[in-house]
Amino acid sequence: MKINITINNIVIAALVCMSLSACGQKTTNTISDKTTTPMDSFPVTKSDDEWRKLLSPVQFNILREKGTERPYTGEYDDKFDEGTYYCAACGTELFTSKTKYNSGCGWPAFYEPSVNKNIVEKKDYSHGMLRTEVMCAKCGGHLGHVFPDGPKPTGLRYCINSGSLRFEAGKKKE
Ligand code: FE
Repeated sequence: MKINITINNIVIAALVCMSLSACGQKTTNTISDKTTTPMDSFPVTKSDDEWRKLLSPVQFNILREKGTERPYTGEYDDKFDEGTYYCAACGTELFTSKTKYNSGCGWPAFYEPSVNKNIVEKKDYSHGMLRTEVMCAKCGGHLGHVFPDGPKPTGLRYCINSGSLRFEAGKKKE
């Protein structure tokens, strides 16, 4: 009986330690891998030919082929007007000017998405690096990457290609 109580106490202590350390991790700026959806099962699916008809060659390269525009060349890198940023492929709302900031990295940077569920994140092992890719949750379009070096309150930097976005000026229609 005594041994059982001791073992139970050890198990309880271990569980408390595990839960405390899990809580501790939430206070740091970690990027989770939210993606469980394979590329062919997003709600909006089109063939490459269909996308090519809708997108410019630059937009197609970024959104459908995971290309990256050259730094400091994108239309929205230096733009800080009030407005909303939508997916250039499917029109889903992604970011607003309220969370856009000048990161100096050469691409539009936001510290959080406008609507969390409209973004999916996936580990990206390309180019010999481990990064977190950011995609549109509706069409799977590649947007850019998210890094844990952004400003408060999230500490995140969503580094997004201008070519994957369409900006609409003014206050959002509710
Ligand atoms: Fe999209």
